[in-house]
Amino acid sequence: MYQSTDSLAPQLLAGNRRALARTISLVEDGGPEARALLAALYPHTGRGQVVGITGAPGTGKSTLVNALTKTYRDQGRTVGIIAVDPTSPFSGGALLGDRVRMRDLAGDPGVFIRSMATRGSLGGLARATADVIAVLDAAGFDRILVETVGVGQAEVDIAGAAHTTIVVEAPGLGDEVQAIKAGVLEIADLFAVNKADREGADHTVMALQMMQGLAPARAGHHGAARSAAQHAEAGGQPDGAWLPPIIKTVAVRGEGVASLRDWIEIHAAHLVTTGQREERDFSRAAATLSHILRDELMAALLARLPAGHLEEVAAAVARHLADPYTAAEQMLAAFLEQATGGWSEPSRLSDRSDSLKPQNVDV
Ligand code: GDP
Repeated sequence: MYQSTDSLAPQLLAGNRRALARTISLVEDGGPEARALLAALYPHTGRGQVVGITGAPGTGKSTLVNALTKTYRDQGRTVGIIAVDPTSPFSGGALLGDRVRMRDLAGDPGVFIRSMATRGSLGGLARATADVIAVLDAAGFDRILVETVGVGQAEVDIAGAAHTTIVVEAPGLGDEVQAIKAGVLEIADLFAVNKADREGADHTVMALQMMQGLAPARAGHHGAARSAAQHAEAGGQPDGAWLPPIIKTVAVRGEGVASLRDWIEIHAAHLVTTGQREERDFSRAAATLSHILRDELMAALLARLPAGHLEEVAAAVARHLADPYTAAEQMLAAFLEQATGGWSEPSRLSDRSDSLKPQNVDV
């Protein structure tokens, strides 16, 4: 190891790229070092805007991420890119789409690209992705683009970490149907109909509009992507509703990409003004906490169980000598008694609008 992990966080915060790459590798692998690093970096997070880009393979996500990155760079913003492939077991190396990116973005110090692959479980991948987002955020990247390959539950899970999620569709792939099936439609804040230079793009736009229950009944509206004014009319409701706009892009030529970028900013502002950003941050924090607690509790429980006890109980349940609920309840009760010397009321954290200092502690 060429760097002690103690010095990694300060080096990363000072802008050292090698420290950043090393931190991400450690965080991806998990373990106590990763935790210490994430703890040191956490106070520096919360500034980066996280944008998820998802859609079926071949829709042009990588090309679009590449083009979006360039428009952000034109504005002087720095960009961190995480390409997540839930279907590939290889991490850290270059995914297919990286070849496009490497050619155009390599060598730009304002861009950092990282590929991630499966972590054994979907939950593990989503958590590792969230951790890497936190690292890039702490490192000061203004925009963090998380590209997820494929269509399915992985995108839905990973989208939980994004402030704005773009679902990319393209003509001729039957994506409309896939999107409905996989529930990806529900996570879309923006739709990009890429390959708008191809025949059928207008049809894809119409299919999306139809799914939004907004298919124009009149002739003369042939699938034109909605304008900002139309969106303000339709989506800018006082109740804070957001109707995902549909933006046509030609990623290979960079067309429509500045518009897509502007929509990302409009959506981000919408989240802030309606209080939804705070809500999303809160529910994400709550979900992360419960995941960690669940894992930690399970680990603590397993560590305290006498060797072979779990197997013994499982065998009894398998032979119908005990029911699983009662068995689990008894194991938990024994664990809690042993771990706490009798359960006592935990200190209450204050209401979320107040500071996080413990108040009203029951003794
Ligand atoms: P991904 O699998 O979704 O990441 O898709 P890629 O970005 O790798 O793109 C798949 C293919 O579509 C590549 O050959 C791209 O050059 C091409 N492509 C991407 N965007 C466009 C576009 O706007 N128009 C056309 N005609 N081709 C595109």
